[in-house]
Amino acid sequence: MIPSTGQNPALRFAPSPNGPLHLGHALSALLNADMATALGGRLLLRMEDIDVTRCTPEFEQAIYEDLAWLGLDWERPVRRQSEHFDDYRAALDALIARGLAYPAFMTRGEVKARVANAEGDGKPWPRDPDGAALYPQDERSLSDSERQRRIDAGSRHAWRLDMGRAIEACGEPLSWTERGDGETGEIAADPAAWGDVVLWRSDAPSSYHLSVTVDDARQGITHVVRGLDLFHATSVHRLLQELLGLPAPVYRHHRLILGADGRKLSKSEGDAGLSVLRRQGLTSADVRRLVGL
Ligand code: GLU
Repeated sequence: MIPSTGQNPALRFAPSPNGPLHLGHALSALLNADMATALGGRLLLRMEDIDVTRCTPEFEQAIYEDLAWLGLDWERPVRRQSEHFDDYRAALDALIARGLAYPAFMTRGEVKARVANAEGDGKPWPRDPDGAALYPQDERSLSDSERQRRIDAGSRHAWRLDMGRAIEACGEPLSWTERGDGETGEIAADPAAWGDVVLWRSDAPSSYHLSVTVDDARQGITHVVRGLDLFHATSVHRLLQELLGLPAPVYRHHRLILGADGRKLSKSEGDAGLSVLRRQGLTSADVRRLVGL
Protein backbone atom coordinates (compact mmCIF):
# COMPACT_ATOMS: atom_id res chain seq x y z
CA MET A 1 0.00 0.00 0.00
CA ILE A 2 1.44 3.36 -1.02
CA PRO A 3 0.43 6.18 1.33
CA SER A 4 -1.16 9.20 -0.25
CA THR A 5 0.83 12.42 0.02
CA GLY A 6 -2.31 14.48 -0.52
CA GLN A 7 -0.87 15.87 -3.75
CA ASN A 8 -1.46 14.90 -7.35
CA PRO A 9 0.85 11.85 -7.71
CA ALA A 10 3.91 12.48 -9.85
CA LEU A 11 6.84 10.15 -10.51
CA ARG A 12 10.06 10.60 -12.40
CA PHE A 13 12.70 8.54 -14.11
CA ALA A 14 15.99 10.45 -13.89
CA PRO A 15 18.80 8.92 -15.95
CA SER A 16 22.16 10.54 -16.66
CA PRO A 17 22.81 10.65 -20.41
CA ASN A 18 26.45 9.63 -19.97
CA GLY A 19 26.16 6.11 -21.35
CA PRO A 20 23.69 3.57 -22.70
CA LEU A 21 20.82 2.40 -20.49
CA HIS A 22 20.97 -1.19 -19.22
CA LEU A 23 18.52 -3.62 -17.63
CA GLY A 24 18.83 -1.93 -14.24
CA HIS A 25 17.53 1.30 -15.79
CA ALA A 26 14.76 -0.66 -17.52
CA LEU A 27 13.58 -2.01 -14.16
CA SER A 28 13.59 1.49 -12.68
CA ALA A 29 11.80 3.07 -15.63
CA LEU A 30 9.16 0.31 -15.75
CA LEU A 31 8.53 0.45 -12.00
CA ASN A 32 8.07 4.21 -12.24
CA ALA A 33 5.67 3.82 -15.16
CA ASP A 34 3.70 1.02 -13.48
CA MET A 35 3.37 2.96 -10.25
CA ALA A 36 2.31 6.13 -12.08
CA THR A 37 -0.40 4.10 -13.78
CA ALA A 38 -1.47 2.43 -10.52
CA LEU A 39 -1.73 5.80 -8.77
CA GLY A 40 -3.31 7.57 -11.74
CA GLY A 41 -0.32 9.92 -11.58
CA ARG A 42 2.04 11.68 -13.96
CA LEU A 43 5.25 10.20 -15.31
CA LEU A 44 8.02 12.75 -15.76
CA LEU A 45 11.48 12.37 -17.19
CA ARG A 46 14.56 14.23 -16.11
CA MET A 47 17.98 14.27 -17.75
CA GLU A 48 20.60 14.44 -15.02
CA ASP A 49 23.23 16.07 -17.18
CA ILE A 50 25.10 18.43 -14.85
CA ASP A 51 28.34 16.80 -15.97
CA VAL A 52 28.31 18.42 -19.38
CA THR A 53 31.62 16.82 -20.35
CA ARG A 54 30.34 13.25 -19.98
CA CYS A 55 26.71 13.73 -21.06
CA THR A 56 25.99 13.89 -24.79
CA PRO A 57 22.95 14.57 -27.02
CA GLU A 58 23.54 11.14 -28.59
CA PHE A 59 23.13 9.32 -25.26
CA GLU A 60 20.07 11.44 -24.54
CA GLN A 61 18.52 10.52 -27.89
CA ALA A 62 19.27 6.83 -27.25
CA ILE A 63 17.46 7.08 -23.88
CA TYR A 64 14.31 8.39 -25.60
CA GLU A 65 14.49 5.54 -28.10
CA ASP A 66 15.02 2.88 -25.41
CA LEU A 67 12.16 4.20 -23.28
CA ALA A 68 9.77 4.39 -26.24
CA TRP A 69 10.71 0.80 -27.11
CA LEU A 70 9.86 -0.20 -23.53
CA GLY A 71 6.41 1.27 -24.18
CA LEU A 72 6.79 4.28 -21.89
CA ASP A 73 5.21 7.65 -22.40
CA TRP A 74 6.26 10.69 -20.40
CA GLU A 75 5.26 14.32 -20.15
CA ARG A 76 7.01 16.95 -22.21
CA PRO A 77 9.05 19.05 -21.89
CA VAL A 78 11.70 16.87 -20.30
CA ARG A 79 13.56 18.67 -17.51
CA ARG A 80 17.26 18.96 -18.31
CA GLN A 81 19.42 19.81 -15.33
CA SER A 82 21.91 21.67 -17.54
CA GLU A 83 19.15 24.26 -18.17
CA HIS A 84 18.61 24.98 -14.45
CA PHE A 85 21.99 25.86 -13.01
CA ASP A 86 20.58 29.21 -11.79
CA ASP A 87 18.01 27.36 -9.75
CA TYR A 88 20.67 25.20 -8.04
CA ARG A 89 22.90 28.26 -7.52
CA ALA A 90 20.02 30.04 -5.73
CA ALA A 91 19.64 27.04 -3.41
CA LEU A 92 23.40 27.00 -2.75
CA ASP A 93 23.39 30.76 -2.07
CA ALA A 94 20.58 30.33 0.45
CA LEU A 95 22.70 27.76 2.31
CA ILE A 96 25.82 29.96 2.11
CA ALA A 97 23.86 32.94 3.47
CA ARG A 98 22.93 30.85 6.52
CA GLY A 99 26.54 29.81 7.08
CA LEU A 100 25.75 26.18 6.20
CA ALA A 101 28.04 25.83 3.18
CA TYR A 102 31.71 26.63 2.78
CA PRO A 103 34.27 26.74 -0.03
CA ALA A 104 36.41 23.57 0.03
CA PHE A 105 39.88 23.86 -1.43
CA MET A 106 41.50 20.46 -0.86
CA THR A 107 42.17 18.41 -3.95
CA ARG A 108 41.33 14.73 -4.17
CA GLY A 109 45.05 13.95 -3.89
CA GLU A 110 45.39 16.01 -0.71
CA VAL A 111 42.42 14.27 0.89
CA LYS A 112 43.84 10.90 -0.11
CA ALA A 113 47.22 11.73 1.41
CA ARG A 114 45.56 12.90 4.64
CA VAL A 115 43.59 9.66 4.92
CA ALA A 116 46.64 7.52 4.11
CA ASN A 117 48.64 9.35 6.78
CA ALA A 118 45.99 8.83 9.45
CA GLU A 119 45.52 5.19 8.50
CA GLY A 120 49.29 4.70 8.42
CA ASP A 121 49.31 5.87 12.06
CA GLY A 122 46.68 3.24 12.83
CA LYS A 123 43.82 5.77 13.11
CA PRO A 124 40.79 4.63 11.16
CA TRP A 125 39.37 7.38 8.91
CA PRO A 126 35.57 7.64 8.78
CA ARG A 127 33.92 6.55 5.53
CA ASP A 128 30.51 7.30 4.03
CA PRO A 129 27.89 4.59 3.29
CA ASP A 130 29.43 4.17 -0.19
CA GLY A 131 32.87 3.58 1.32
CA ALA A 132 34.42 6.93 0.35
CA ALA A 133 36.57 8.75 2.91
CA LEU A 134 34.81 11.71 4.55
CA TYR A 135 36.18 15.15 3.73
CA PRO A 136 38.48 16.54 6.46
CA GLN A 137 36.77 19.15 8.60
CA ASP A 138 39.57 21.73 8.92
CA GLU A 139 38.17 24.20 6.39
CA ARG A 140 34.93 24.51 8.34
CA SER A 141 36.69 27.01 10.57
CA LEU A 142 38.56 29.15 8.00
CA SER A 143 37.77 32.84 8.40
CA ASP A 144 35.67 34.59 5.78
CA SER A 145 38.62 36.78 4.86
CA GLU A 146 40.91 33.77 4.33
CA ARG A 147 38.22 32.10 2.19
CA GLN A 148 37.86 35.23 0.12
CA ARG A 149 41.62 35.59 -0.20
CA ARG A 150 41.92 32.06 -1.60
CA ILE A 151 38.99 32.51 -3.96
CA ASP A 152 40.40 35.83 -5.21
CA ALA A 153 43.76 34.12 -5.73
CA GLY A 154 41.98 31.75 -8.12
CA SER A 155 42.12 28.60 -5.94
CA ARG A 156 39.94 25.91 -7.39
CA HIS A 157 37.19 25.06 -4.95
CA ALA A 158 34.00 23.14 -4.48
CA TRP A 159 31.21 24.12 -2.05
CA ARG A 160 30.48 21.70 0.74
CA LEU A 161 27.75 21.44 3.32
CA ASP A 162 28.92 22.01 6.89
CA MET A 163 27.17 18.87 8.10
CA GLY A 164 27.54 19.73 11.78
CA ARG A 165 25.88 23.11 11.42
CA ALA A 166 23.31 21.83 8.94
CA ILE A 167 22.09 19.15 11.35
CA GLU A 168 22.00 21.69 14.14
CA ALA A 169 20.05 24.17 11.99
CA CYS A 170 17.56 21.45 11.23
CA GLY A 171 16.91 20.71 14.89
CA GLU A 172 14.50 17.78 14.67
CA PRO A 173 15.76 14.27 13.80
CA LEU A 174 14.67 13.48 10.24
CA SER A 175 13.10 10.41 8.68
CA TRP A 176 11.48 9.31 5.47
CA THR A 177 8.70 6.96 4.45
CA GLU A 178 10.13 3.94 2.64
CA ARG A 179 8.07 1.47 0.62
CA GLY A 180 10.84 -0.31 -1.27
CA ASP A 181 12.43 -3.75 -1.53
CA GLY A 182 14.76 -3.33 1.47
CA GLU A 183 13.95 -1.98 4.91
CA THR A 184 10.50 -0.34 4.91
CA GLY A 185 8.45 1.96 7.13
CA GLU A 186 9.64 5.19 8.70
CA ILE A 187 13.44 5.21 8.28
CA ALA A 188 15.60 7.40 10.53
CA ALA A 189 17.81 9.61 8.35
CA ASP A 190 21.51 9.67 9.19
CA PRO A 191 23.00 12.52 7.14
CA ALA A 192 26.03 12.76 9.47
CA ALA A 193 27.27 9.47 7.99
CA TRP A 194 28.04 11.36 4.77
CA GLY A 195 30.15 14.13 6.30
CA ASP A 196 30.50 17.44 4.48
CA VAL A 197 28.95 16.45 1.14
CA VAL A 198 29.66 18.38 -2.05
CA LEU A 199 26.93 20.83 -3.02
CA TRP A 200 28.72 22.42 -5.94
CA ARG A 201 31.54 20.63 -7.68
CA SER A 202 34.81 22.30 -8.60
CA ASP A 203 34.64 20.81 -12.10
CA ALA A 204 30.90 21.10 -12.82
CA PRO A 205 28.06 23.32 -11.64
CA SER A 206 25.91 21.95 -8.82
CA SER A 207 26.10 18.36 -7.55
CA TYR A 208 23.94 15.26 -7.62
CA HIS A 209 22.56 15.83 -4.09
CA LEU A 210 21.66 19.49 -4.57
CA SER A 211 20.13 19.22 -8.03
CA VAL A 212 18.13 16.05 -7.32
CA THR A 213 16.62 17.67 -4.22
CA VAL A 214 15.72 20.92 -5.97
CA ASP A 215 14.35 19.12 -9.03
CA ASP A 216 12.15 16.66 -7.18
CA ALA A 217 10.48 19.68 -5.58
CA ARG A 218 10.30 21.73 -8.79
CA GLN A 219 8.74 18.81 -10.64
CA GLY A 220 6.26 18.19 -7.82
CA ILE A 221 7.48 14.61 -7.36
CA THR A 222 5.42 12.78 -4.74
CA HIS A 223 6.98 9.30 -5.10
CA VAL A 224 10.66 8.69 -5.79
CA VAL A 225 11.27 5.25 -7.29
CA ARG A 226 14.98 4.44 -7.76
CA GLY A 227 17.58 1.79 -7.04
CA LEU A 228 18.61 0.60 -3.57
CA ASP A 229 22.10 1.96 -4.30
CA LEU A 230 20.63 5.40 -3.50
CA PHE A 231 18.86 4.34 -0.29
CA HIS A 232 21.40 5.95 2.06
CA ALA A 233 21.72 9.10 -0.09
CA THR A 234 18.11 9.79 0.90
CA SER A 235 19.41 10.92 4.30
CA VAL A 236 21.21 13.81 2.59
CA HIS A 237 18.20 14.60 0.42
CA ARG A 238 15.90 14.75 3.45
CA LEU A 239 18.29 17.14 5.19
CA LEU A 240 18.51 19.42 2.14
CA GLN A 241 14.72 19.35 1.74
CA GLU A 242 14.32 20.45 5.31
CA LEU A 243 16.95 23.21 5.05
CA LEU A 244 15.50 24.52 1.79
CA GLY A 245 11.87 24.26 2.89
CA LEU A 246 10.98 21.67 0.26
CA PRO A 247 8.41 18.85 0.60
CA ALA A 248 9.48 15.23 1.24
CA PRO A 249 8.29 12.63 -1.26
CA VAL A 250 7.61 8.99 -0.37
CA TYR A 251 10.52 6.73 -1.41
CA ARG A 252 10.60 3.31 -2.97
CA HIS A 253 14.13 1.97 -3.42
CA HIS A 254 14.00 -1.11 -5.59
CA ARG A 255 16.24 -4.15 -5.88
CA LEU A 256 19.19 -3.89 -8.27
CA ILE A 257 19.80 -6.04 -11.30
CA LEU A 258 23.14 -7.75 -10.93
CA GLY A 259 25.46 -9.08 -13.61
CA ALA A 260 26.36 -12.76 -13.87
CA ASP A 261 29.34 -12.10 -11.58
CA GLY A 262 27.06 -10.66 -8.89
CA ARG A 263 28.10 -7.03 -9.22
CA LYS A 264 25.87 -4.08 -10.02
CA LEU A 265 25.41 -3.43 -13.75
CA SER A 266 27.41 -0.50 -15.02
CA LYS A 267 27.11 1.73 -18.05
CA SER A 268 30.83 2.07 -18.55
CA GLU A 269 31.27 -1.67 -18.86
CA GLY A 270 28.54 -1.82 -21.50
CA ASP A 271 26.50 -4.31 -19.45
CA ALA A 272 23.32 -5.67 -21.03
CA GLY A 273 22.63 -2.47 -22.99
CA LEU A 274 18.97 -2.03 -23.91
CA SER A 275 19.78 -0.95 -27.46
CA VAL A 276 21.66 -4.22 -27.98
CA LEU A 277 18.64 -6.22 -26.79
CA ARG A 278 16.42 -4.11 -29.03
CA ARG A 279 18.58 -4.85 -32.06
CA GLN A 280 18.49 -8.54 -31.16
CA GLY A 281 14.70 -8.35 -31.65
CA LEU A 282 13.59 -8.58 -28.00
CA THR A 283 10.31 -6.90 -27.04
CA SER A 284 9.23 -4.87 -24.05
CA ALA A 285 7.52 -8.01 -22.68
CA ASP A 286 10.85 -9.88 -22.93
CA VAL A 287 12.58 -7.11 -20.96
CA ARG A 288 9.87 -7.24 -18.28
CA ARG A 289 10.54 -10.95 -17.91
CA LEU A 290 14.31 -10.44 -17.86
CA VAL A 291 14.03 -7.96 -14.98
CA GLY A 292 11.55 -10.12 -13.10
CA LEU A 293 8.37 -8.07 -13.58
N1 GLU B 1 20.68 10.06 -12.15
C1 GLU B 1 20.77 8.98 -11.22
C2 GLU B 1 21.25 7.74 -11.93
O1 GLU B 1 21.21 7.69 -13.15
C3 GLU B 1 19.44 8.69 -10.54
C4 GLU B 1 19.11 9.71 -9.55
C5 GLU B 1 17.85 9.47 -8.74
O2 GLU B 1 16.97 8.71 -9.17
O3 GLU B 1 17.74 10.09 -7.70
O4 GLU B 1 21.66 6.82 -11.26
